[in-house]
Amino acid sequence: MTNLPDYSFQPATLKFLEDSPKKLFINNEWVAPQSGETFATRNPANAAVLAEVALANAADVDAAVAAAQAAFPAWAGMIAGERGALLFKLADLIDQHADVLAELETLDNGKPIRVARRGDLPYVTKHLRYQAGWADKIEGSTVPVTFPNQFVYTRREPLGVVGAIIPWNFPLLMAIWKLGPALAAGNTLILKPAEQTPLTALYLAELAREAGFPPGVLNVLTGPGLPTGAAMAEHAHIAKLAFTGSTSVGARIMEAAAKSNLKRVSLELGGKSPNVIFADSDIPAAIRGAQWAVFSTAGQECVAGTRLFVERGVYDQVLEGLTANVGKMVVDHGFAEKVHVGPLISAEQLERVAGYIDEGKKAGAEILAGGERLGDGLKDGYFLKPTVFSYSDDSLRLVQEEIFGPVAAVTAFDDEDELIARANATQYGLAAGVWTRDIGKAHRYAHAVQAGTVWINGYGMIDPAAPFGGYKMSGFGREMGKEAIDLYTQVKTVWVNTQ
Ligand code: NAP
Ligand code: MG
Repeated sequence: MTNLPDYSFQPATLKFLEDSPKKLFINNEWVAPQSGETFATRNPANAAVLAEVALANAADVDAAVAAAQAAFPAWAGMIAGERGALLFKLADLIDQHADVLAELETLDNGKPIRVARRGDLPYVTKHLRYQAGWADKIEGSTVPVTFPNQFVYTRREPLGVVGAIIPWNFPLLMAIWKLGPALAAGNTLILKPAEQTPLTALYLAELAREAGFPPGVLNVLTGPGLPTGAAMAEHAHIAKLAFTGSTSVGARIMEAAAKSNLKRVSLELGGKSPNVIFADSDIPAAIRGAQWAVFSTAGQECVAGTRLFVERGVYDQVLEGLTANVGKMVVDHGFAEKVHVGPLISAEQLERVAGYIDEGKKAGAEILAGGERLGDGLKDGYFLKPTVFSYSDDSLRLVQEEIFGPVAAVTAFDDEDELIARANATQYGLAAGVWTRDIGKAHRYAHAVQAGTVWINGYGMIDPAAPFGGYKMSGFGREMGKEAIDLYTQVKTVWVNTQ
């Protein structure tokens, strides 16, 4: 392998890349794509090609759907605990291969290896095991109806073939958020990873086969939104499409669902989350929290706290502390000895983010830190310095639109009413944060802010037991917790005449 960073990779990582997985995983077999086409996935740290992978077209989607349909009755009818046991076994295998998966994740996505190893991978198995545990606990209820001599009960049944389309920022974790509850509940699955980060999903497929999942239960199709993702969204025999990605693509998926078979849709979309620092908070902790709320994963996180509201009395103090901290963040490739911020995912993303920065400067927002690309040894990669803007005009594009890069926009506020009005003045509603020692104020904000998740004196925690999803144009449906099982099941009501 050429162009790999200087790092002692696991032999299995190198072998996986050398074998260049040019095939699709359908019915527990690696099959050549009917499209006859492949595409390259790159390392965002140096733009080098890591591997060629198969491009699935509509015919490949048909083949995967046929396999998943054929597998569905037996999988749905299996004793639920046996489905759970297979998911637990998959989690064990992921643990055993965690080093390889973390290296592949860092190569494909760019994130620091420390983050992949200590963040992504442990979360992957924690979430998978949590959902595996639900498999044999999915219950219905008995219903006290008004008719005499009728015994009425409900069952929660799986939907059938589920399609999962996911983004590139947490490739394996996003896959598991959908795979876990979908398979635990008895559905079969077709997973399409993002075209920028297909490697860990392909590796996962092989682990699923090793775990002993029956053929057709999990299928992995690599390919871009067009044609692969669109063919899934339009497919008449996919019963549900679970999507994480941008709001614009989410809207297209709903449209395709409406026009095909009214497939169920759940959407985890973009965000422009407000994070608030009140003057009475633990200011150093709040600054650190605000810093990581934006700059972890180079800002490429749907919950990133990209709009920072600071109470006027501590505004200068917070700006000073934040810019000092941000100036010390090390931007480098993910395998570097010391690195806080890795590259952006692609050249397109780098251009997009740089465009927002240039426009923000022209529109009158003041740049306090960062804003530049990196030269020297990193010039081939998609690197950008963590950037802090201060602003007062809420209508700026960089304040309203999701940038999905390392850009924080900071503003001052004077009172709670103003704060709530401004915090809620975007189309998004994914997450929000607040830092204060006043418990009443914290809860007032938490109740008034339009967001699916609110963190008080913290930011960014995600747990398999805690429901997660959006308000407004950040989407609908709740992943994690019991709610995730509800997303992948439907309720049947059974009436029994006991007369
Ligand atoms: P994206 O362009 O919407 O892509 C997401 C997925 O959809 C990818 O697999 C993509 O395929 C696929 N896709 C693109 N066009 C499609 C179409 N017409 N039909 C079906 N599928 C299609 O988003 P992204 O830029 O990769 O990811 C960043 C976005 O995801 C951000 O907006 C972020 O907020 C959001 N996100 C949300 C959450 C959450 O939990 N709410 C989590 C992470 C990210 P290809 O990329 O392979 O072409
Ligand atoms: Mg890649």
